[in-house]
Amino acid sequence: MSIEKITYIGPYIKISSKIYDQEYTRIVCPNKCKDTYYSDQNFCSKCGSELKLQSYMRKIDEVSELIIRDEFVDELVFVKENTLIANHRIGFNENRDLSNINIDQIDEEIKWFHYRYQNIISALRRISNFLEIFWGVVEYYN
Ligand SMILES: [Zn+2]
Repeated sequence: MSIEKITYIGPYIKISSKIYDQEYTRIVCPNKCKDTYYSDQNFCSKCGSELKLQSYMRKIDEVSELIIRDEFVDELVFVKENTLIANHRIGFNENRDLSNINIDQIDEEIKWFHYRYQNIISALRRISNFLEIFWGVVEYYN
């Protein structure tokens, strides 16, 4: 496995997710046997002890969870913390000439980005503390 440095130039999203703790419960054996227990099971299948419910906290990051869901995984990609770029395969022409890019082209690409991802952007806005669209250079490792 090799690590490749990738440079993306174009519109991207800076986002900060609302992260919160949510309480969950799981069934455990008081003797800490490692086994899978079913919700209708009363006794540990390994040691016979009475099973107990244990609550635990889990951090919920709604933005990450939304992106990971199938409908969005091919659209935008988390390349590093808080940064989402357009998926290369369906994004704009990556081989476009950037040597003399002007403000109109940048404006056009930002408009395209807003239009192309309008559904996901509005879904993300609802579950983020901060969301802004920029145009620039994003370097990341693959
Ligand atoms: Zn047990």
